[in-house]
Amino acid sequence: MISSKEILNITDFLNQAGLSYEADVALKEFSYFRSGGIVKLVVCPRNYDELQRLVKYMHVDGHEYKVIGDTSNLLFLDDVAYGVLLSLKHFSAIKYDEGEGIICAQAGASLPLLSRQALQWGITGYENFEGIPGTVGGGIFMNAGAYGPEIKDCLVKVYGVQSNGEHFELTNGEMQFAYRESFISKNQGQYIITHADFTAVKGETQRIFERMELLHAKRHKYQDFLYPTLGTLFAGTEVYSAIGRNDKKYTLMLKVLERLWFSKKFRRERPMNKRRLNDFVCRYFDWNFDVKPFSDKTMNCITNRGQHTDKILEYIELLRSHLPETARLENEIIQEYRFSD
Ligand SMILES: Cc1cc2nc3c(=O)[nH]c(=O)nc-3n(C[C@H](O)[C@H](O)[C@H](O)COP(=O)(O)OP(=O)(O)OC[C@H]3O[C@@H](n4cnc5c(N)ncnc54)[C@H](O)[C@@H]3O)c2cc1C
Repeated sequence: MISSKEILNITDFLNQAGLSYEADVALKEFSYFRSGGIVKLVVCPRNYDELQRLVKYMHVDGHEYKVIGDTSNLLFLDDVAYGVLLSLKHFSAIKYDEGEGIICAQAGASLPLLSRQALQWGITGYENFEGIPGTVGGGIFMNAGAYGPEIKDCLVKVYGVQSNGEHFELTNGEMQFAYRESFISKNQGQYIITHADFTAVKGETQRIFERMELLHAKRHKYQDFLYPTLGTLFAGTEVYSAIGRNDKKYTLMLKVLERLWFSKKFRRERPMNKRRLNDFVCRYFDWNFDVKPFSDKTMNCITNRGQHTDKILEYIELLRSHLPETARLENEIIQEYRFSD
């Protein structure tokens, strides 16, 4: 919790230090999911020195803050006022050092842009990241990946600032990458990534292009592009079968429906191929929603159709209660970092 007095002190510091920030930002207009109340300060350092100065100040004075990328994995809650967000949007450069065979990308650079830039340089290994919204920093934090390859497969070294203001460098091995996890996510709030070195393996441009185009088209089949959404709720979990895993009748009906209605053979050109399946699941379990909180393309993604985030939280809990305990919620619900007058 952060108080108005603290916000005043931080604002004084930002003004004196000449740091860039925005005040009283409406998260409904700012966040990827278009949800949340206001945030008192979004601070956007322009370079490493500014970031380090800011972090040292916040550390010494004991102010809390949340680092953000593109917020594509963060659920901000409606009616909640937040205190301070630290954005690395100005850390957006992507450079290729041909001599060293390294790509250096700053944390605020877009992951899709890194992928497309690699295509232009004829570098392979980044094809699968083209459709992952978010920044390089957010991607490294949670070892983002798609269709197999993950950030860990091309990352060499990560650089940044610790929460006490000291510099850090971590090699790929030291990052302890696992499925949607890293050393930095396991030590949330202690490390701010500023940039990273990546491998630069030359490939055949046409093949890289074809792979990217294929994956891009595939995404439109299972990802909502119209309503605001976040990434998969329970990553690595096949929710349709998992929610009724102990129910033989449901499992059988699901199999039949998937074979008939949702057979790729008949419906391969239809993107919204899960709507009827979703209706079946809701009818079967007697789930009723005034406004659907999930995507027509998968129940494993929340969508913002204008409902209050309390309804989204209820849905997440409902789904979680039907899943095995091992199912891990991937989206981050932002309960902390609140502002109070
Ligand atoms: C439509 C859609 C599709 C998606 N598809 C995929 C997919 O295929 N694969 C996948 O892995 N993910 C996917 N995601 C989830 C999400 O896009 C990724 O996890 C992405 O890497 C998050 O990056 P971000 O910049 O938005 O991070 P944010 O959501 O802003 O932050 C996520 C976490 O990273 C931390 N963080 C961000 N930047 C830094 C930094 N510089 N230093 C330290 N910590 C930092 C934040 O504090 C936060 O805890 C998808 C999301 C959406 C909306």
